[in-house]
Order: sequence, then C-alpha cells, then structure tokens
Amino acid sequence: MRTIGIDLGGSHVLATTVDEGGKILDRKEIDVVDHEPDAVIKIIFEAVDAVVAAAKGDQIAALGLGSPGNIDLDAGIIKYSPNFGWRDVPLAEKLRERLKMPIFIANDARCATLGEHAHGTGQDTQNFVLLTLGTGIGGGIVANGTLLIGNAASAGEVGHHQIRATDGFYCNCGKIGCFEAQASGTGLIRHALAVAPSFPRSTLVAGKADKLGSKAIRKAAEAGDPHGVAAWARYLDDLARGIANIVAFVNPEVIALGGGVASAGDYMLKALRPRVEVLSTMVPPGATRIVTAALGNDAGAIGAATMARRGGLTTQGDRIPAHVS
Ligand SMILES: [Zn+2]
Repeated sequence: MRTIGIDLGGSHVLATTVDEGGKILDRKEIDVVDHEPDAVIKIIFEAVDAVVAAAKGDQIAALGLGSPGNIDLDAGIIKYSPNFGWRDVPLAEKLRERLKMPIFIANDARCATLGEHAHGTGQDTQNFVLLTLGTGIGGGIVANGTLLIGNAASAGEVGHHQIRATDGFYCNCGKIGCFEAQASGTGLIRHALAVAPSFPRSTLVAGKADKLGSKAIRKAAEAGDPHGVAAWARYLDDLARGIANIVAFVNPEVIALGGGVASAGDYMLKALRPRVEVLSTMVPPGATRIVTAALGNDAGAIGAATMARRGGLTTQGDRIPAHVS
C-alpha cells in the first residue's frame, strides 16, 4: 500500500507516491506560476491525479503535504506562507473535499527531517538534526526519538537564531546575522560579494554579481582562486558557528546537511568538522557526526508520504490511519 507525498515549493509542486520502504514509485512535478490559493490547489490536484493514475488501482491510504511556513497541524491550515504570501488557507479541508482520503499538512523542513530520519541518514538514531542549506536554511530536530514540534509547530526554526547579531548580513526575517543569512546558499554569495573589494583582480563577481551562484564560488575555492577561498572560509566559519550552537542545544548523534551547498560533499565536510569541533566546547569530541543527507531534493516528498502513513508528523510507528471522509 502506498501513500502520497507532496512537496509544495515556491516554484513547483512535486507529487509522489511512496511505498512503506520510503521508495518513490511515481512522481509528477508541475511549475507554479500563479500563487493564488485556488490556482496552486488546482495544480496540486493535477499532480495528484497524475500519480494516482500511475498507481493503476493500487490502494492509496492517505496524503501528506509539506509546505514552507507556519502550519496548524491539527486543522491543516497554512497560517502563513512566506513564498506565496498566504494567510490562514485551510488547505487540508480543500484537498479532503475532493480526494476523500486522510490529509496531513506540515512544514516542509520538518517533513524532510522526518523523511531523512525514517529512510536516510537518520535511520536508527534517537537524536538527529537535518539542515537544508538552500536559498534559506530549513531544519528539523529529533530528540530522544521524538520529532520536536513545539507549542506553535515552530520547533526546528534554527535558520533564525542569530550568529552575527552585530556584524552580519540582513536576514529576510528582519533581524541581522541570522544563521540563514550567513550560512545558506544565499549567505555564501553574500560572503563572496562582501570580500570582493579585497580581490580587485578577481573574475568571480566582475560584471555578474546578480547572476553569481553558490556553486561557482565553491568551485572557485576548490580550484584555489583566492577570492573563492576567502569567501568559502568565511562561509564555513559561520556555518560551523551555527552548527556548534545546535550541537550544544541538541547533542545529536548525526547532523545531516542537505540542499544545494551540501552537494560539495567531502570537500565541505572535511573543512567543516574541525571548525565545529573547536566550537563545541562542552560536548565530548566526536559525539556528533556531520554527514551529507541521503535523500536530496526528494526528502520533503518522502517525509510527507511518511507522515501520511504514520497518521501525523511523528517518528513513531508505521500505521495507516483510519479513513476520514
Ligand atoms: Zn532571520
């Protein structure tokens, strides 16, 4: 029996069906252009219809959906979506009306954490953190075997703890020096721009500041370009600072890094691990392994499907929920 897992991104909807082992059986991705709720819901239905048709009658137990923003988990209401500018959209109710199956909605980063914990690098761990280093930093925390949700479903918003409150970059949330502003893929670009005046002969930024990508900076660093090396080092220092704080708060067994910047793999990990170790002063050395996440861009959809299978945003059990019509 399969469940549907949907990753609702800012520019696309990815719908999947996933088996009990966390394997994606079918997938359909559709771009989102119009951000009005009804237009996005129409695209969700189109993507769901495609994966339901591909299932060829195989039973589908429930649907899970991960969305950016703050979600009322019980009511399935998107309280606030930064990508779409939504407030109080009763998404679960709208999906349930037509699809006639149990619907579960949660924050996309928490879904990705659930997916990576159940089927990726977090398997068999009791204390686990996923950080996605993309345009921003999404996160989720499993502590003592339980995915932390918090009082208003906001536990795990680690991207907005400040690591450079006086000398950092402005964050989209309005604060200065948030972990996300300093250590996301966007943060890497900002570090490269910030140190650019010290490298007047660098070709990394010249004439293409608005097209500069994090991958180009990392590649330049790998190739030994002085500007790239300087930006990458500043980036790693800030990433390590935020990770060391998380190590102190959570003492996880594993921290998995996903998102575009984490595709640097060992090149990043080898330089990052000693930096984190130095800053983790009160935690025994080697207590936390820092690794690259296993599920990549599919973690959110797989986690949403896992949530549907379990009947909620939980690390516990693998049960199919009772049918709700
Ligand atoms: Zn912030």
